[in-house]
Amino acid sequence: MSESTYSHDVDLLIVGAGPAGLYAAYYAGFRALSVAVVDSLTEPGGQLAALYPEKAIYDVGGIPSILGRELAADLFRQAGTYNPTFLLGHSANELSVLDDGSMSVTTDTGRSIHAKAILITAGIGIFTPRRLPVGHEYEAIGVRYFVPDPGALRDKRVLVVGGGDSAVDYALMLEEVAASVTVVHRRNDFRAHEASVEKMRGSTVQIRTPYQVSGIEGNGRVELVQITDHDTGVVERLAVDEVVAALGFIAELGPLTTWGMELSQRHIVVDTTMATTMPRIFAAGDITEYPGKVRLISVGLGEAATAVNNAAVAIDPSRKLFPGHSSDPAKQPT
Ligand SMILES: Cc1cc2nc3c(=O)[nH]c(=O)nc-3n(C[C@H](O)[C@H](O)[C@H](O)COP(=O)(O)OP(=O)(O)OC[C@H]3O[C@@H](n4cnc5c(N)ncnc54)[C@H](O)[C@@H]3O)c2cc1C
Repeated sequence: MSESTYSHDVDLLIVGAGPAGLYAAYYAGFRALSVAVVDSLTEPGGQLAALYPEKAIYDVGGIPSILGRELAADLFRQAGTYNPTFLLGHSANELSVLDDGSMSVTTDTGRSIHAKAILITAGIGIFTPRRLPVGHEYEAIGVRYFVPDPGALRDKRVLVVGGGDSAVDYALMLEEVAASVTVVHRRNDFRAHEASVEKMRGSTVQIRTPYQVSGIEGNGRVELVQITDHDTGVVERLAVDEVVAALGFIAELGPLTTWGMELSQRHIVVDTTMATTMPRIFAAGDITEYPGKVRLISVGLGEAATAVNNAAVAIDPSRKLFPGHSSDPAKQPT
């Protein structure tokens, strides 16, 4: 493939627009690298935006408390400082290494990106929610797996299914806007954080355990949900407008597993420079593995800066690893 046939030609391709990828996009611009960012989701922010937009985060340095969606928006705004190319809704699929050591990645949508280096910030991979065993025909017309905008469920009778953090957080969040919230979980115990479960038990949320959803009925929209007592088999029907299934998700590294880097279970092995076992391919964030690895946003942000600085040197060995401080007036974005 000649260079002119690539859809995009950049110094650094970042795979994943979660917090690590977004911060890396900013940082690579700060280091004067041209950047493209691909993400299979159509919204930037990774897990923050897709899984817990309304949950408060308390452990990012310098920010006492911030909602997932707010941090995602701030990271996206900062990432835009040096105008990277965002390819949202595109999954990185195939990798080819070219004779000069540069690489080309094709997406599931047929785009091709030529890059001198790649930074993989793919988190837990391409994630898809675990589906309810019934009611697939109501997906998008009353059965949903994410709640990016609680306002969409204002004054509705909502049934939340699940027993983990997402289910309990969704129930507490929706209690503020919905007409009613019922949580159905197939066990009596909830896996969610104890304090959240306590809060839910003290709220107006109705808790039905040990029940599971065994049927959904309606005419063009959800109207009734059938729940079955796990112990007795007794069936009940609840009048419901919306079902939020928070049953966790399946995360798949998918095509990245065929690229050739050393993997450790579902993670990419990196050294202290965030280099993978393939030349000019770096990784940062939840996807990395090394002794002592801790999967937190703050850790991913630090790894992103390390990875970008080392990628800059891998692309051009005459460059310095340490870029200087952003507070140096000569380094301010224009
Ligand atoms: C409910 C919950 C609460 C949490 N609370 C906190 C907290 O309070 N504090 C904290 O520090 N951490 C928290 N975390 C963890 C935190 O969200 C993660 O550490 C962080 O999101 C990791 O960022 P990342 O950029 O590495 O990956 P992700 O956020 O997972 O982003 C990776 C992105 O890569 C994309 N992607 C994957 N594969 C491909 C591909 N082949 N092509 C294109 N795109 C791809 C995905 O679509 C995704 O958008 C929480 C996690 C959950 C689930």
